[in-house]
Amino acid sequence: MLTEPYDIVIVGGGLVGLSLALAIGQAQQKGGLRLKATVVEPFPMTSHETGANPSFDARSTALSYSTEKIYRRLGIWSSVESQAAAIQRIHVSDKGQWGATRLIASDQGLDAYGHVAPNEILGKALYQAFHQQSQVKLAASQKVSSLEPTPDGYRLSLCDSKGLPTRELSARLVVVTDGGRSNLAEQLGIVYKTSDYQQNAVIANVGLSRAHENIAYERFTGDGAMALLPLVDYVARSEAVGESASRLHRSALVWTVPSRQAPGLLELNEEAFLSRLQSVFGHRAGRFIRVGERHTYPLQLKTSLEQVRPGLVMLGNSAHTLHPVAGQGYNLALRDAMTLAECLCQVTTAEQVGSLEVLNRYYEMQREDQSRTILGSDGLLKIFGSKSSMLRKARSFGLVSLNLLGPVKSHFTEMAMGVSGVAREWQ
Ligand SMILES: Cc1cc2nc3c(=O)[nH]c(=O)nc-3n(C[C@H](O)[C@H](O)[C@H](O)COP(=O)(O)OP(=O)(O)OC[C@H]3O[C@@H](n4cnc5c(N)ncnc54)[C@H](O)[C@@H]3O)c2cc1C
Repeated sequence: MLTEPYDIVIVGGGLVGLSLALAIGQAQQKGGLRLKATVVEPFPMTSHETGANPSFDARSTALSYSTEKIYRRLGIWSSVESQAAAIQRIHVSDKGQWGATRLIASDQGLDAYGHVAPNEILGKALYQAFHQQSQVKLAASQKVSSLEPTPDGYRLSLCDSKGLPTRELSARLVVVTDGGRSNLAEQLGIVYKTSDYQQNAVIANVGLSRAHENIAYERFTGDGAMALLPLVDYVARSEAVGESASRLHRSALVWTVPSRQAPGLLELNEEAFLSRLQSVFGHRAGRFIRVGERHTYPLQLKTSLEQVRPGLVMLGNSAHTLHPVAGQGYNLALRDAMTLAECLCQVTTAEQVGSLEVLNRYYEMQREDQSRTILGSDGLLKIFGSKSSMLRKARSFGLVSLNLLGPVKSHFTEMAMGVSGVAREWQ
């Protein structure tokens, strides 16, 4: 089989791989050195269909302020904004404790801390923009089955959904953004530091008896953490009555529970699920009246001990998988992706894209942002996940002091917005 030569191959067209491909494609379109690049994605990709790709499933994503700025740069914010609910207030509480924190964006001179958008909308916006550029190509409906180092980079074998070989590619640089869903990291001998939270996230969109007023709730229970994030109302138009429409107030629920409890929550009928949710969450957001499709994900903090090698970068979930309650996984990976695209588009010869010098420069630029974000969200969960009575009292005090102390509040806010001291300014 003939080997097709590329400068860059991105393995996986999920949230992170597609964002990177778009950034590289747009930068190339503006001029400079032309790099031959492609994305390989097992699912079909067209400009209007995200298909069954699990990256764009029923989940919603909290987009930080830094992500909004990056999306503006990529020209896709206008497609996302109308379907994204602003987070104007954050309410943090601890079940059974008297402390609670209320963060109000306008008190800090902000319009919003961030926005929440369904993954399907993000997928559509990214796919459409990707299809409008012509620099980065696409190998859809195929996956990378093996990766082998060569003196100039890597050789990649592709196969179809039945596992039958389709193509062979060579690349000076391979960016692995497969979400850690394949065995490629194992083939490459990439070692991970893993800490299993022994928890699962149960996610669903829930209907509320009243408007969410753009409040995001973070609630810590003895068993785990819950996030209830505002979504744009669902409007169902009835053709029978012409213009009339029924409106459903909605929020996105991420409910983390000990892993053994997750199957039971999926099996409950709607009424029983809503009643269980109401008893754990309380009535601060009103009554829960509907629940959409429920999914569950096992939760781990997984960080790769090696992110760059000559000719190789691990990116997105393949580099670091975070607990979803802090809502930082994609936001951080997007900042990584934009920094990598910038470093790659500054090279003066194609040979340099795989050089360790360029790849180390990228990693050095993002290292501190990564470690602060990872430590910040893991630390939050360790403090709030603990059942120790001392820690419960301390965190109750912590919530109150967070309410009172301006600088502490600002630090918490900066992390939530993805603009903490070390995260770069994305204008
Ligand atoms: C319940 C939940 C809620 C979350 N909420 C938030 C949030 O609010 N904010 C936030 O910032 N983050 C959030 N995250 C994290 C966020 O979803 C991830 O950071 C993000 O999906 C990682 O994207 P990725 O592209 O690295 O991986 P994925 O989304 O897993 O994409 C991987 C892609 O690679 C493809 N692929 C797999 N194997 C191969 C192969 N062999 N060859 C080629 N392609 C391959 C797949 O088809 C897929 O398209 C949440 C995560 C969960 C689980």
